[in-house]
Amino acid sequence: MTTETHTGGDVRLSGISKTYGSFTAVHPLDLTVPEGSFFALLGASGCGKTTTLRMIAGLEEPTTGTVLLGDRDVTGLPPHKRPVNTVFQSYALFPHLDVFENVAFGLRRRGVKSVKRQVDEMLGLVQLGDKARHRPHQLSGGQQQRVAVARALINHPRVLLLDEPLGALDLKLRRQMQLELKRIQTEVGITFVHVTHDQEEAMTMADTVAVMNAGRVEQLGAPADLYDNPRTTFVANFLGTSNLIEAQVAEAGTEVVVTAGGGPLRLPADRCATPARAGERLLVGIRPEKITLAHADDADAIPSGRNRVTGRIADTSFIGVSTEYTVDGPAGSGLKVYEQNIERDGRLVPGAEVVLHWNPAHTFGLDAAQDAE
Ligand code: ATP
Repeated sequence: MTTETHTGGDVRLSGISKTYGSFTAVHPLDLTVPEGSFFALLGASGCGKTTTLRMIAGLEEPTTGTVLLGDRDVTGLPPHKRPVNTVFQSYALFPHLDVFENVAFGLRRRGVKSVKRQVDEMLGLVQLGDKARHRPHQLSGGQQQRVAVARALINHPRVLLLDEPLGALDLKLRRQMQLELKRIQTEVGITFVHVTHDQEEAMTMADTVAVMNAGRVEQLGAPADLYDNPRTTFVANFLGTSNLIEAQVAEAGTEVVVTAGGGPLRLPADRCATPARAGERLLVGIRPEKITLAHADDADAIPSGRNRVTGRIADTSFIGVSTEYTVDGPAGSGLKVYEQNIERDGRLVPGAEVVLHWNPAHTFGLDAAQDAE
C-alpha cells in the first residue's frame, strides 16, 4: 500500500467527510475517478465541491475516510508529498518571472539542470511558445490560465486538480478555454479533477460528472446520461430545465401509465428513478426541447401514441436559437416548451389553447416523496 506506482492512476475516496464544528460540509462519500479521465465535481456554491478537492490535494484534512491515489493511501501526507498539482482560479503566477521561468519553476526547485526542452514542450502544449519572455501582466486572462496549467503539468502529476480555473474569465474566453483544457487533457492523458458550478462547463469538458448538493453526491455519470436520466429533482433542474408534472401511477408494468391533470401519460418503467407502484405518486419529467407544441385546432393531426397535455400559452419569448413558450394547464403551470422550427402563423400567442405532445420514451419518472424527506 505504501509503494508508489504510476500505473493505477485513479483517485479513490472512501467514506471521506469533513465537518467544521457542528456543520457538515461533506457527508461521508465514496468516489472513484477513473485513470486518465476528465472528471468534474459540479454543484452550486457551498455544496462541498472545493472541500472535496482540497481533501484530495491534502490542503484539508478529512474528518473521516481515506484518499487513495492509485494504490497509495495518501490520507496522512502533506500536499507537496502527494503526486498531485492544483490550478487555482487566481492562477497564482509569479509576477516578477517571465512565462518561461514560471513554467520552469517546479523543475528548478527540484534541482533539474537542463529545463529548456521540457519547458518548450509544455509551452508548445499550451500554445504559448511565442510568449516565453512575456511577464504575466502582459498576457490575457486565458493566456495566464494556460501558463498556470503548464506550470502544474511540468511536474508530471498523477492527477491535476482544477479549482474553478476559468471562473475569472469572461464567457467567450471561458468557452474557448474549456475546449483548450479538454484538448490538453486528451493530449497528456493525465487524470483531471475539475471543480465548477457551471453545468455547461462540466457537460462540455468532462467524461464523468459528479453532481453535488448539500455535501453529498446526488448523481454520478456521463454528461448525456445525467441529462437524459436524472434520478433526482435537483439533478433534473440543475442540469438544464425540466418540466416536472405531479402524477399518480395508474398501471405499473414495463410501461408505466400515470394520470396527471386529467389525461394519461406513459413512460418506460426503466426510466423511473423509483419503482412505480399503482396508486402512488410519481413526478413525471420531460425536457422542454423534447416537446412539440400544437395549436388546439390542429390536435387531430397529432400522431397516436404520443404523450399529450393541454394548456394555454401564458408567455412567449424569443431566445435566439429557439422560442420559449410558457404554458399553463391542468397538468401544471409554468410548463416550458422550446421550439426551433415552429411555423410563425400568428396563432401561437399568449392566450392560445394548445396541446403539448412528446414521445413517451423521452419521459422520466422521479420519486415524488424525495423533497419531503
Ligand atoms: P464555492 O463554489 O462557493 O467555493 P463549494 O461548493 O466549493 O462552494 P466549499 O468551499 O466546499 O463549497 O464549502 C462547503 C461548505 O463548507 C460551505 O458552506 C462553507 O461555508 C463551509 N466551509 C468551508 N470551509 C470552511 C471552514 N474553514 N470553516 C467553516 N466552514 C467552512
